[in-house]
Amino acid sequence: MLDQIKGLHHVTAMAKDAAENNAFWTRTLGLRRVKQTVNFDEPSVYHLYYGDEVGTPGSVMTYFPFPHIVRGRPGTGEVGTTVFSVPEGALDFWAPKLAADGVANLERDESFGQKRLRFSGPDGDGLALVEDRNDVRQPWAHGGVPTDNAIRGFHSASLRLRDAGATEELLKFMGYEVAETRDGVVRLVRPEGNGADYIDIETLPGVPRGDLGAGSVHHIAFAIENRATQLEVRKALLDTGYQLTPVIDRDYFFSVYFRTPGGVLFEIATNEPGFNRDEDTAHLGEALKLPRQHEHLRSRLEASLEPLEGKSN
Ligand code: ZN
Repeated sequence: MLDQIKGLHHVTAMAKDAAENNAFWTRTLGLRRVKQTVNFDEPSVYHLYYGDEVGTPGSVMTYFPFPHIVRGRPGTGEVGTTVFSVPEGALDFWAPKLAADGVANLERDESFGQKRLRFSGPDGDGLALVEDRNDVRQPWAHGGVPTDNAIRGFHSASLRLRDAGATEELLKFMGYEVAETRDGVVRLVRPEGNGADYIDIETLPGVPRGDLGAGSVHHIAFAIENRATQLEVRKALLDTGYQLTPVIDRDYFFSVYFRTPGGVLFEIATNEPGFNRDEDTAHLGEALKLPRQHEHLRSRLEASLEPLEGKSN
């Protein structure tokens, strides 16, 4: 069993409208935009990152906004709900705030004994806030949300699978332990992780595979300290029979990707070098940063990319 993976690093999803996405994550949910860059393979499309002050691994939600994308169709083989952690009592702040901001499908319930507020993102994204009294992570303090209610980072991600077995075995190999099973959902925990420590598996044998589109999660990334430990984990997974990509330089972290038995795309991403490698912490996310190989496209991209602050909300 591996012990180098320390919880979630980031979750990457698809959106339709960049400005709407930016307004939702920064103004409605109060996260900090820690980077605006473009998709490495499709530089005409933004890659937007939202998180805490520095984009600490375990707090970072990222989006590819494709203006002409159709809405995703939820199903199996994908992440169902991306869940963020808030302090005890904070849902009494969030429920009326999100309702006032016009957020859809608000619903309060409980999950594994914790109070939860479910809701949809602008493209039907499956999202939730959970009250976690044990989360000591510091929130972004300047997102317009009082710090005693603000989002601390990811709490968990749920996977919707037709057959959970092989994915559960994989997560155990990656250092997770089964914490509890309730209402048919298996909760796995990474002991001594980075705070974004839970993965929930929901088994839905009769449900067809989801179709990727706006509102769908593209992949989830797990956090690893550095490139040396990443190579150890890559080799261990290769030796176990998984097909992994080579290490890819993503400018703010180094990544390897592999498709899991249940269909979800996993990434293992390093905590180094981080989002302040090319701009000061005080100004993260303010300027358009381009991967070196796309820098020659800058004037064209600055003219064609939709302004992020173009909408009031
Ligand atoms: Zn990623």
